[in-house]
Amino acid sequence: MTREVAIVTGASRGIGRKIAEKLAKEGMDLAICGTREETITAAAEAIAAECGVMVHGQAVDVADHAQIQQFVRDVAKQFSRVDVLVNNAGITRDGLAMRMKPEEWQQVLNTNLNSVFFASQAVLRPMMKAKYGRIINISSVVAAMGNPGQANYCASKGGIDALTRSMAREVASRNITVNAVAPGFIRTDMTDQLDDKGRAAIHDQIPAGRMGTPEEVASAVAFLASSEAAYITGQVLHVNGGLYC
Ligand code: NAP
Repeated sequence: MTREVAIVTGASRGIGRKIAEKLAKEGMDLAICGTREETITAAAEAIAAECGVMVHGQAVDVADHAQIQQFVRDVAKQFSRVDVLVNNAGITRDGLAMRMKPEEWQQVLNTNLNSVFFASQAVLRPMMKAKYGRIINISSVVAAMGNPGQANYCASKGGIDALTRSMAREVASRNITVNAVAPGFIRTDMTDQLDDKGRAAIHDQIPAGRMGTPEEVASAVAFLASSEAAYITGQVLHVNGGLYC
């Protein structure tokens, strides 16, 4: 039997990289993407060498619906199956709503939300045919809480949660689950942009008293990607140290 195949978007670094590593350690072959050829190829080579699975790395702009759909279709053809899709790629373009430029709104919605729909749409054909699939979308705690200065980002993540529930209902009868994982504050390049004062203010809000790690998010994703999670669908699993309950 061939190994399971997972696609992880935004896997050159941060949370996506740890998700890819975790799924590879569980024995899945991978197709991963990021924006830069050099870094995504290096990530693919490193994961393949460490885990002994096949890893295809490719530069893909997920914000471009034609590119992300072609990537998914090519992977399905090349690997002859896609069992898991993790829609992880995401960006922030923060600013107060009053001053937000149309391109800052559009860029975030295209990258964080539209990509999730178009990648999922493309993966449904092979998953429907196989009568098996796991789609996991990376949302955020701020979809539920809101966050000043992040109207675009919060709207994109709130859209992911609603899309997750809707698609889950459409495909449940085909043994395909669709869930979201909503991280709180996690130590990555995204949160490293904060200064010490900003970081201290965040720590004060988190009952666990610390930021989460990308590995802690990856564990939640790996569980939802497993066959043990067959009866869980349409859910948003929060991984946030108690920040939002
Ligand atoms: P990160 O460290 O900034 O990494 C982002 C990843 O997404 C990189 O691999 C990047 O590729 C890729 N990416 C960005 N735009 C892309 C595009 N247009 N096409 C393809 N790939 C693209 O971010 P992170 O903190 O790991 O966040 C990962 C996910 O978790 C995001 O959806 C984020 O919203 C969510 N999240 C993060 C936190 C947190 O505290 N960190 C909290 C809640 C939710 P390049 O390396 O090529 O740029």
